[in-house]
Parts: sequence; structure tokens; C-alpha cells
Amino acid sequence: MLSSTDPHAQAVAASTKWQNQSASGSNASADRVDEIYGIDVFDLRKMRERLPKGTYRSVVAAMEQGARLTPLDADVIATAMKDWAIERGATHYTHWFQPMTGLTAEKHDGLSIPDGEGGVVFQLSGASLVQGEPDASSFPSGGLRATFEARGYTAWDPTSPAFISRGLNYATLCIPTAFVSWNGDALDKKTPLLRSIDALNTQAMRVLKLFGTDAGVKSVGSTLGAEQEYFLIDRNLYFARSDLSTCDRTLFGSMPPKHQQLDDHYFGAIPGRVLGFMAEAEAEMFRLGVPVMTRHNEVAPGQFEIAPLFESTNLACDHQMVTMETLKRVAGRYGFACVLHEKPFAGVNGSGKHNNWSLSTDTGVNLLDPQDETHTNLQFMVFLCAVIRAVDIHADMLRATIATAGNDHRLGANEAPPAIISVFLGDMLTDLIEQLERGSTSRTLKGGQLDLGAQTLPMLSRDSGDRNRTSPFAFTGNKFELRAVGSSASVAWPNTVINTIVSESLDAIASEIESKLKGKPTEAQFEKAVRSVLQGVVKQHKRVVFNGDGYSQEWEDEAERRGLPNLKSTPDAIPAFQTAKARSAFRKYKVLSKAELDSRTEIFAETYITRIGIEAETMVQMARQQIFPAAMEHQRRIAEAVAATEGAGVDASDAREGLEEVTDLVARFRAQINVLDDAIASAPQGDPYKGMRYSRDAIFAAMEDLRSLGDELEQVVSSELWPMPTYRELLSIR
Ligand code: ADP
Ligand code: MG
Repeated sequence: MLSSTDPHAQAVAASTKWQNQSASGSNASADRVDEIYGIDVFDLRKMRERLPKGTYRSVVAAMEQGARLTPLDADVIATAMKDWAIERGATHYTHWFQPMTGLTAEKHDGLSIPDGEGGVVFQLSGASLVQGEPDASSFPSGGLRATFEARGYTAWDPTSPAFISRGLNYATLCIPTAFVSWNGDALDKKTPLLRSIDALNTQAMRVLKLFGTDAGVKSVGSTLGAEQEYFLIDRNLYFARSDLSTCDRTLFGSMPPKHQQLDDHYFGAIPGRVLGFMAEAEAEMFRLGVPVMTRHNEVAPGQFEIAPLFESTNLACDHQMVTMETLKRVAGRYGFACVLHEKPFAGVNGSGKHNNWSLSTDTGVNLLDPQDETHTNLQFMVFLCAVIRAVDIHADMLRATIATAGNDHRLGANEAPPAIISVFLGDMLTDLIEQLERGSTSRTLKGGQLDLGAQTLPMLSRDSGDRNRTSPFAFTGNKFELRAVGSSASVAWPNTVINTIVSESLDAIASEIESKLKGKPTEAQFEKAVRSVLQGVVKQHKRVVFNGDGYSQEWEDEAERRGLPNLKSTPDAIPAFQTAKARSAFRKYKVLSKAELDSRTEIFAETYITRIGIEAETMVQMARQQIFPAAMEHQRRIAEAVAATEGAGVDASDAREGLEEVTDLVARFRAQINVLDDAIASAPQGDPYKGMRYSRDAIFAAMEDLRSLGDELEQVVSSELWPMPTYRELLSIR
């Protein structure tokens, strides 16, 4: 714990700790790290120290093979966990879960109970570790549960270590859990993710067995590294605007003369206060087990990015939630508000989350690593083709997976990948799949070296393809990067979908290969079978591969010719979850039942409608209670000045013209407030699809019109009367 409450002193302390850590190098022993940061994670290492051997082995078996723990084991683990937490100052524990709100939820219980003799005993039973029962009735269930069936259960996820969340005067033991209804329906984001990881394991292991590369491999899982973009806004200014404080984005605001035109913020020097904040947030995350790695300025002023080292997907998803929460929590200590919204400012770059995804064996082999002589690496080609096939078949659903009201502002706006989902492979892999399509693979394109022409500079090795920032799903060396995820989104859902659809394709490809093999095939026969299957896959699905400029009109036209879906907004995208192929993928791999999928679709639609509804009402309020009165006051002052000038017998026809313009603008603004207000009042009830389209076409459209009139007023009304901080103030962070 940091001792001083002064943020700057804390920042210095935190960054010194951080430097000590880097100075000691990546080989710093776990104990040393513990000593520096006071690691607040009850991980396997802690369990090995504190559990009897047999119990420890049971935990490992539960983590690796999903073996069930006996009640006795659970009691022993709970006691050890409780002792550890109390030693570290925890007073309460909570089952920490991820309901469909997209946030995390917790309900705290005391770790101590009165002993009846004036003291307390500390207690955490195995039963309370393993299972909890929060009241589920107030979480979104999308019709999975009627309110009278309020029961919901949380179930311990032993694969994600418990951690201690702390503030100045509290410390709470957080136990990651899944959240299900009374009859076992998933009410959260973790349960389906864990199921999708199981599915992937089964299908990927099948492929390894076919290739005979499964020796010593216990499991295959997906790996994830999520890069997080965010804005920092001065906290006082943030709370001075109701749009920011309720919606996390500005609903009015005209562009200042200088924003990002000079590109002088991207990768620029990080301002001191921001660096202090970053160092402290990183130190906290590190303490919670999040392996944070990089930090830098982003494109827009006030925009930054943080990225961790990749981990197994389940853990990485939990850590991503911790990251978002920590950024928000620590920002306040430095006088900042951390804004995770996808588009806080119109006309300024928005924020996303790059979802780096790959496949790895438990022994650490990256199955999407092409290696040097890629054309000889048939197993890699199977995994590659499975991803291509999956993305082509389910492009619409992948698009839907990242569809939210906030993300709609970015996608297709030439700052984030377009709404058309395609796969970027780069020169080397594109050449490879073209060879596959022709039937044989005989070469691997090489990137070569870059000579910088100066003796003192090293020769750089060049990748075999450039980066393509416009692609939504790009192969980047040894992983795929889904770049279209919104910055405020939980990454659990996109990864659930990717795991599921890739499982389906691995299954299809493995089955087809198996069906071509009879008896005990020779190596040549096996290779021939694999190549012929992959040839078919490439032929059928290569249309989804695109290496060009995703922002261009030519691509939009070309994509249409290729028959790729172009779902421009959330109301267009969400129905993709209701297709037969979507249902079948989720059902076949036991990730979501039809009811569970339907409930999610309903929740996504309702969230979209509610978000826009809240924004619209906030906007009406700001317009009526802040902007309109300020504009009227401005109008009155000019009118008085005109009257006074004319009263003095001086010609004021110029000022009178100005007055007429203002009066006209104010009148149109007022009329548009009523248009928006009426649109809100006439929203249809019932059918969520209809509701979504209405929110977009009637409410959101009216908001855009009101905004442009409000922004025009901002440029006219005396700055002394303008009732809220402007973009210039919001965007200058020092
Ligand atoms: P960039 O994409 O900006 O070039 P990096 O290559 O450093 O940056 O990686 C970005 C993110 O991808 C990091 O979080 C990193 O840990 C993650 N990453 C790297 N390798 C893998 C992998 N095999 N699986 C999942 N994520 C990975
Ligand atoms: Mg990246």
C-alpha cells in the first residue's frame, strides 16, 4: 500500500517501484515481485505454499481437467484462501461475476462472524467458496428468467485466481465466478466463454492427433492480449457536463481550431500527470496479476493506450475487466475521469480494443505461428484455413458481436475498420493460400532486410507484409487481431464467438480429412488428403480475404460483388444471432442453447434502445435547461444593444441583421428540441428489432440534427454565457 495520499507523491512512489521491477529484469523471482508490489493474487504459487499436497493436486486437476473438487478439498482451500486474505487485511469476500450488463458485479459478505463471546471468528467455508446465491432478479436475463424465479447461482471458477480489491480503507477478497440461473442457463459472459474454450480444446486436439503432434499435450486453448484505448478528461470538466457524466460521451460540442490535424499527439511525449496516473494504475494492475506491458499516447489529444502481455483467454478476459475498472478508479486520484466510450468526441478519433487472439497448447506451442518454411507446415495451414473458413461463414455474426450504440460511431467512419468483416493475411500467407488453391505449396515468401544506409544503424529485418490498419480481422505475425471491438466492451463475448466458430471449422475440416483416410494411411496419403481438403476450403472461402484499403469505396463495391455482408449499424447486425447457422454453431458445441442465445439477442437490442434513449433524454435536458436559456440571454443582449444604438439615433442595421440570424437559429433549435422530444415519446413498445430501427432512424437522427444546431449556437453565443466546458478545454490534458 502506498502511504501518502498526495497523488503526486504516490505517483513517484509507484513509478519508482515500477522501475525497480524493470531494473531487476524479467527474471525477477516471483518472491521479489511479491515483495515490491505486495501481490494480491491467490494463485497457484500461493496454493502450493499453503495447501496440503493432495489438495493442491486436486486444484491442479480441477483447473486442467475440470475435475470436481470434493467438499473436503473445498473446505481446505477456502480456509487457506481466507487466512491469506485476512493476513492481507481483507474484511469481506465476494463472488465476482460478469452479468450481461457488460460490467462486473459483487455482493460482499463478511469474513468474520461474532463468536457469541464478544469476539469474532474468521470464516470462509468450502461451500461459500464454491457456490453463492446473489439475487438474480435485477440483472438482465433477456427473458431467461421470470422475476418470480429470482434465484441465480454463482459458481467458483478455479482457473481464474482470487484477488484482493482494495482502496484506502477497505480490502475485499474477490472470487471469480460464473453466474447461472436456477435451471443452469448462463446469465453471464464467463459461462459461455468457458464452454467455448472446452469446445476449442476438443476440436483442436483432434487436429493435433491427426498430425501426431499431440504427444505430451494435455490441452489446447485460445490466448488473448487486448489492447485498451481510453481518454482522460479533467475530472472537474467531466462532471460539469451531464452528457459526459451520464453517457460518457459529449452530445454537443463544436470542434476547436486545433485537434488532431497535426498528428502531434500519437506516440508523443506523455504528459507528467498522465504518466503518474499510468504508473500508479499499472502498479495496481500488476498487484492484481494483470501483466501490463506497454503504454503510449494514441491518435487523438487526451487519448492513450495500455496493453498487457497475452494470457489464456479466460484469465485475460477477467484481467481486461480489472484493467477497465482500475483505469477508472485510479484516474480520480489524479484529477482525471477515464472515459472508455467508443466515441466521446464527434470529429475526433474514437477508442477501440484490439483483440489479439491465437491458439496455444498447454505446453506453450503457438499453433498460429507460421514458422520459417511455412509452405511445409501443413498443420499450420489447417488452423489458418479453419480461421478463414469460420470468419467467412460467420462474418455477419462477428460483426454483430461488436455491435453497440457506442461502437456504431466508429465502424465505417474511416477511423476503425469498416462494418464489412474481412481477413487480412499479408503477402506471404496470401501467396501461400493461392498455392494451396492450386494444389501444392512449394515456397514461402521472405521479407528480407531493410538497410538504413547508415553504418551505425543496425540492419532491420522486414516482415513479409506491411501492417494494415484498415482490416477488421488481421493476421499479425503469429496471431489474429480483431480490431473492431469497442473500447468499453467486455472481450469475453467476442472471444466466445471466435472460439465457437473456429471450433466448428476445425471440426468440419478434421471430419473431412478423416473421411478421406482409409485404414492406416501412409504419410503421402495423409498429406494428399489434407491438401485436397484445404484446397476446397480456400476455393470456397477465399472471398473473405482482402489485403487492400478497407476504407475505400472500391472495397465496399468489391465486397458487395463478393457477396460479403455489410451491416452498417447495430439494428442491421444484431439479427445475425438469429440465423440457423448461428444457432447451430452455438448449439452443436454446447456454448449456448437456443434460449440462451435468444436472451442475449434480446439484451443486446434492449441495451441499444436504452442507451440511445438515455442519450436522447440527456440531450433534451441540456438543450432546454442550459443551451436554450444561454442562447436567449445572448439574443436579449444583442436586442438591447440594437435598441440602445437605434435609440441613440445611430444606424444599427448590421447588428439588427445579426440579431435576426441569432433569433432564427434559436427558434430552429427550440423547434428541434420538440422534434426530439416527440420522437422519444412516440417510441414503439414491444418488438425489439422494430425498436432498434426506430431508435436509429427517428431518435438518433433527431439527435444529430439537434446537435448540429446546438454546435452552431456554440459558435455564435458569447463564450461567457456558454453553459458548459468546450472541446478546447476538454481536449487539453496536461
Ligand atoms: P501490436 O499489435 O501493436 O504490434 P504487439 O505485437 O506487441 O503489438 O501485440 C499486441 C498484443 O498482442 C499484446 O497484448 C500481446 O501480448 C498480444 N499477443 C502477442 N502474441 C499473442 C498470442 N500468441 N496470442 C494472443 N495475443 C498475443
Ligand atoms: Mg495492435
